[in-house]
Order: sequence, then structure tokens, then C-alpha cells
Amino acid sequence: EAEETNMKENGKLNISGNTRTVLERRYLRKALDGTLQETPEGLFRRVATHIAEAEGFYEDGLDPSAVADAFYGVMTDFRFLPNSPTLMNAGNELGQLAACFVLPVDDSLDGIFDAVKNAALIHKSGGGTGFSFSRLRAKDCRVGSTGGVASGPVSFMKIFNTATEQVKQGGTRRGANMAILRVDHPDVLEFIQCKSDNEALNNFNISVGVTDAFMQAVREGGDYDLIDPRNGETRGSLNAREVYETLIHQAWFNGDPGIIFLDRINRDNPTPALGEIESTNPCGEQPLLPMEACNLGSINLSKCVVTDGGKARIDFDSLKEIVWLAVRFLDDTIEMSRYPLDEIDQMVKGNRKIGLGVMGFADLLYMMGVPYNSDEAVGLAEKVMGFVQTEAHEASRHLAVSRGPFPNIGKSVFKGDENRAYRNATCTTIAPTGTLSILAGCSSGIEPVFALSYVRRVMDGDELLEVNPLFETMAKERGFYSKALMARIAETGTIAHMEEIPEDVRRVFVTAHDVSPEWHVRMQAAFQNHTDNAVSKTVNLPREATADDVQSIYDMAFDLCCKGVTIYRDGSKQNQVLSVAEKK
Ligand code: UDP
Repeated sequence: EAEETNMKENGKLNISGNTRTVLERRYLRKALDGTLQETPEGLFRRVATHIAEAEGFYEDGLDPSAVADAFYGVMTDFRFLPNSPTLMNAGNELGQLAACFVLPVDDSLDGIFDAVKNAALIHKSGGGTGFSFSRLRAKDCRVGSTGGVASGPVSFMKIFNTATEQVKQGGTRRGANMAILRVDHPDVLEFIQCKSDNEALNNFNISVGVTDAFMQAVREGGDYDLIDPRNGETRGSLNAREVYETLIHQAWFNGDPGIIFLDRINRDNPTPALGEIESTNPCGEQPLLPMEACNLGSINLSKCVVTDGGKARIDFDSLKEIVWLAVRFLDDTIEMSRYPLDEIDQMVKGNRKIGLGVMGFADLLYMMGVPYNSDEAVGLAEKVMGFVQTEAHEASRHLAVSRGPFPNIGKSVFKGDENRAYRNATCTTIAPTGTLSILAGCSSGIEPVFALSYVRRVMDGDELLEVNPLFETMAKERGFYSKALMARIAETGTIAHMEEIPEDVRRVFVTAHDVSPEWHVRMQAAFQNHTDNAVSKTVNLPREATADDVQSIYDMAFDLCCKGVTIYRDGSKQNQVLSVAEKK
């Protein structure tokens, strides 16, 4: 197999391995009988040309064909990739290019079934949907028009789940949903337990939306009020610490629910006059107003490392260039995308949110010889993301000079602030990059490498055995590479315990489970400090971690100003997407 995948040879893409598999299975245009109708070059050309058309909409827009060439270049170098719906749908019939949506769920049958229908349309186009179910009246409340009783948020979630199951996103990918319920909703305890059967609600991630007041009640050991969403009246109270402990126990048990900090999210809401943020998209990285959507894109940091005289460093000049081009790409994408509903079109074009983020951060650390679980790595995270954030804001402000600021700026926190007259209400988001990172052949998002050698189960149970390419190259250079060794590493994924491997290598080439939960949270917080939206991150815990361990993670995430936290204790879900090879 080719040592270096995805290298360009004489201008032609040389794509192999997992990149090709994923492109063929999911992205390349296919005829009805399944034959491929597009090459990888054709895909990136289609996307680049389509997005660059937006340049022609502006009086002083750039030359669309020159911009298309630049977009093509940065994508085929795998330095920057837009979210999957853009790759799949740009220039195609669907034309829907955003990954993230939040839909309102109003407290009426009309409202609920409108949301089900709208979610189905979004899933068909490859987008994911988040909902707050907090507005629905509680279970057993009276239904005025019939004299019957309401069945409550959790029972309605099952309808969304079934609809999602049937749509399967037009054969490209299964719809993903987020359900949020406020901690002061009367049904909160039922919600916390609703995924304890692993198969129920399998198309949902769930998170409890907690408030600062709740967190304070937890610390003081007091009670807090449950609120009837229909009229704001108090409907009983619960002990905050008991609810917190129930939530934590459930998360310990099987990863769900996560937790989001609603007040922290709303402190960063750029347009509070347009409404409160009640939910995020499915993986938690994108808080949005109801009926808002956002398109994401990710820069591959592993391509921003250069070596001078044997010493690796970050090439900030080239990073800056990519950030500016990516902001232009994502802003152009808003114009070119077709949104499934007029209301969404209006919201998106009013706020023009984009979410530029990074992937390949763990690779960057390997290349620079910095352990993920170190102050130096946290410092690098602050430095790199701070740079991306500053440059993204500058690029957005620059676009606003010729294209105008986002139309709702007069209703935003940036009103009258010349230094923040942005084209986009938000610029940065750290996405999980689940598929993009496979395409780019880099580590996903800001996560540590899961295993140095492992089986990746993707798409309908396919299994691909992988050795981390940076580790493989280094092992060969240092002379300890062997196939047998790589197979042995695949049993656990980590080399922490392998004394035959040099100590300095074991210190740098750490994997998700070698990194203690505290370092996971510190890293998430470091990126959050420099991200307008939120950060997708899973805090990995070993199988033997206790509920107290989970609690200290939640407390720490709150104290370090994260916008939410998701934990995963090894082995606690049956269908783990990533797993180290089973011992044979
Ligand atoms: N998403 C989805 N279904 C999927 C994977 C992702 O709807 O199977 C949406 C969801 O909103 C998620 C976002 O896409 O939060 C970004 O996910 P990721 O970065 O993993 O997507 P990629 O662009 O790599 O496919």
C-alpha cells in the first residue's frame, strides 16, 4: 500500500486506501445502478466551481474561476474541507450544503408534526437536527381540546426517532438528532433515563440543559423549582444534587445524557434580541436559534507543520492564508445553499453564521513531539485556535467591507462596534469531523488519536485495519517497526505499557485512554476559549471509572467555562463506532 496517501502526482490526485473507500461509498455521484459517475477530481471541481459562483453575485466579487481554482487547490491538498453535505450536494439536485440545523418544537400537535416533517427534509439532504423539547407540556397535563392527557416530551421523541430511521438520508447517511430538555422541565427525570435501554431513541443524542442557578443549587445542596412550560408556573421542586447525581449515574452507565450549560451558551449568543438559544446540533458543537442552520468547514492542522533544520514548527503564514480562503468559502456557501424551508433561508441569511474549525490537532502534536496531556499542548491549542479565531474574524470583517455585514447586525451585540462589523454572526466551531478526517487522513477534530493501531468500523459494519501513519513512519525511522508489533498494539491501541518501545516515543505517542479525563477537559476548554460556537469533544474514561469521576469531569467543565460536556466510559455502549481490535 502507498506510504503516503492523497499525494498529488503531476497534478492528478492519487487517492488510495480509506479515502477512496469513503469517497466511493458516500460522496461520488452514482448512476441508478450504482456505477460511479464522477472521479475524485470531478467531485472537488464540482464543489469548487459551484461555491465560487457566489463571487459573481457581488459587485466587487473576485473572478469566480480564479477563486474556484483556489478552492480546488486547498481541498485537493486536504488542507481544508467543507462539511459533508457541501461535498455531497454542491452543484447537485438537492443543493443543501449545511450540516447543522435547529428546529423549534411547539407545544401543539401541529407544531410537533411540522418539526417531524422538517427534520425528515433536512435528513434527506444530509443535515443533522437539534431540538429543544422544553416547550412541550409535561406528561399527564390536560389537553384542553380533548379532555385527555398529554404524553410528554419523551413519548414524542420516539416519533422523531422512527421518522429518522425511515428516511436514512437518501442512502447517504443516517439522520442524527439532538434532544435537549431543560433541567427545570417537570419530565426531566424521565428524560434522563430515556436512553437507558441502548436501542430506544438510537437516532438521538440527548443532553440536559442546565442553568447556572441549577449548578449553584447543586453546590449548596438545595432544591430547585420545576416550571410548567405553558405558563411559567412552579410545578413542584426537586433536590438539585439528587438530579445531578441521577444524570451523572446515567451518563456513567452508557454515555447519555450529555450536559449543556445553557447560560454559558446564551452569554455568547450574538443576537439575543432574536431569541434565546435552546439547543445545539446533534454533536453539540453548534448552538443555534430555532430555524437556524450553519455550515462548517475544517482546516487540517497536520498540513500546517513544517520542519526547519530537523525542528518542527507551525507555519502560521500558510495557516493564515487557509483561514482567509476558508472564510470566503463558507460565506460563499451560504449564498449557494438551498435551504429546505423559507424560514430557515431567512434566518441563515440574516445571521450568516459559519463554523470554521480544525482537525488533525493530535497529529500536529505528534509531529511536534508534544504529548497531548501536557501544559505545552494546552498552550499550543490556545495559540493555534487563538490565531484561527483572530484571522477568521479579520477575514469576516474584510468581507463585510465589500459585501456588507450580516443583515441582523443592528440587532446584535456587535451593533455600532466598528471593530466587530462582521459579515458573519459567528465564525468558528470545532466539529467532530467524523468523515472529513477519514477523507483527509488525519486525526479527527481536536481529539487525541484513539489508538495507534486499530479496527475502524464504518458504514454498515465495514472493518478497516489501520496503523497510525505518523506512528508507522516514526517506528520505521527509529528501527522498531514490525508487523507483529503493530498487530500486538492493535489489541489495546496503546503503547504506554510496552517497555520495548523507547520511553520518549511512549511519552509523545499517547492515545485517548492514556490521556486522563482532566486533560481532555482542559483541552476542550482551551479550544473553547477561542471558539465563537462550541467544541465537539468526548471525554474518554476507562471502563473502571466511577460515577464520582464523571462528576468531577462535569464540575470541571462547568468551572472552566465549557459550553457542555460529553463523556464516554469504555465499553458502556454496544455499538461503539471506534473500537480497538478484539483479542482473538
Ligand atoms: N451529521 C449528521 N449525520 C451524520 C454525521 C454528522 O447529521 O451521520 C451532522 C451533525 O450535525 C454533526 C455535523 O454533521 O454535528 C458535523 O459532524 P462531522 O464533523 O462528524 O461530519 P463530517 O462533515 O465529517 O461528515
